[in-house]
Amino acid sequence: MNVLSTYCPHCRSRANARTSKEMSLTMREITFVCKNLQCGHIWVATLEAARTLSPSAIPNLAVKLPMSRHIDPEKLQMSLALS
Ligand SMILES: [Zn+2]
Repeated sequence: MNVLSTYCPHCRSRANARTSKEMSLTMREITFVCKNLQCGHIWVATLEAARTLSPSAIPNLAVKLPMSRHIDPEKLQMSLALS
């Protein structure tokens, strides 16, 4: 199983996610634990969906995410009309 990881902001060692909690459909809080035993830093970070790169084929209408600026609205309408 893959473990979500990042770098400790204090010592720059690897840190693994220990727990996560859903705060909304688009945001989670994640508790990270630094793997450097001499550091011992534990902190909470947020993971938030920022924008859509390719639309869902089974969209949840409660999810409001902006489209990435690279998406051409006319081409998107045409592809949605064809599906
Ligand atoms: Zn650390």
